[in-house]
Amino acid sequence: MDHLMLFVIVAVFAIFYWVYYTGSRKGACTTSWEALPTRAQYLAAHPEAVDGDIIFCIHCGHHQQLEVGVVHQADYRRQHICPRCKQALYRDEEQEESGGETVGSRPG
Ligand SMILES: [Zn+2]
Repeated sequence: MDHLMLFVIVAVFAIFYWVYYTGSRKGACTTSWEALPTRAQYLAAHPEAVDGDIIFCIHCGHHQQLEVGVVHQADYRRQHICPRCKQALYRDEEQEESGGETVGSRPG
């Protein structure tokens, strides 16, 4: 009986640890970013929110979006948020330049 009890306790701890470990591995930022539609999906889902080159916020109708990184400004995971109601509208992955052209930074 003692061995069975010990096994049950260890199993319960293992399950708790596994749930906690796998749960904490997924960053909330990444999953929420991945849940966002892409720009094309956003436009396809909300054709009424587009007028030419202007994309409107589906939440408050604002006509501007702020492009920001998810964690920091240089994050490759870009998301466009509405500066007015602070809702994330769609995501954008930074495109990698396949060409070998380098842009030198000018001083000043
Ligand atoms: Zn808005």
